[in-house]
Amino acid sequence: MARRNKIYEGKAKILYEGPEPGTIVQYFKDDATAFNAEKKATIEGKGVLNNRLSEFFMTGLNNIGVPTHFIKRLNMREQLVRQVEIIPLEVIVRNYAAGSMSKRLGIEEGTQLPRPIVEYCYKDDALGDPLVTEEHIAAFGWASQQDMDDILSLALRVNDFMSGVMMAVGIKLVDFKIEIGRVYDGDFQRLIVADEISPDSCRLWDIETGQKLDKDVFRRDLGSLTDAYTEVAKRLGVMPKNNAPVSKPTLIN
Ligand code: UDP
Repeated sequence: MARRNKIYEGKAKILYEGPEPGTIVQYFKDDATAFNAEKKATIEGKGVLNNRLSEFFMTGLNNIGVPTHFIKRLNMREQLVRQVEIIPLEVIVRNYAAGSMSKRLGIEEGTQLPRPIVEYCYKDDALGDPLVTEEHIAAFGWASQQDMDDILSLALRVNDFMSGVMMAVGIKLVDFKIEIGRVYDGDFQRLIVADEISPDSCRLWDIETGQKLDKDVFRRDLGSLTDAYTEVAKRLGVMPKNNAPVSKPTLIN
């Protein structure tokens, strides 16, 4: 078997050169990290779930005309995506206060915000992904004004789509993070949603009970992360019911 060309290994994913120029194979690992990789664990089945869930969300976005990097799922842990130039920003959209915003502004977690609030963090692990303003982004040339208009519009469209999809299965979309990539089509360039959309990068709370169904389960030691992600997948119909993603292979007669 030919050895594949690894392009990059991150905390939760590995990127390999794809079969065609301009494509990448994105492999979802079982590794979980939090607090800028100070807390680490391997959680069996997480990669399989996130591969499926990201496929589900990205396909839905593609279908309503929000462009994403997703091309197709290849197997349990891998998907084929378009190669992009990643804009070095984490784009965060918040519908309810939580996490770093609650700490920073002293707003109780779960407080509904008057409208969705979009924040930008500069992607730099060594600096702990600091919050930046559009002034920094423009001054340091991380994105142009046109890019920022497009990024805001993509972020709000993703928020509307994700909020609706989650609401329909009894889950509140508290906040999420996306990354944006630049692609070139001939003389034109455009921005598309890249990286992943999964419970690793969203806050998802059960509407009735407030139960957390996202990576905070790992960050705050609230129980089984696989159980939480499986619950999200089941409600969305992504995983066949009663078919745990981590089940061992069984012989079929
Ligand atoms: N988030 C992420 N990656 C990061 C930082 C944040 O996916 O490196 C997501 C996080 O899961 C949450 C949202 O972005 O859904 C807002 O995160 P926040 O700024 O509150 O940071 P945290 O409290 O997670 O440090």
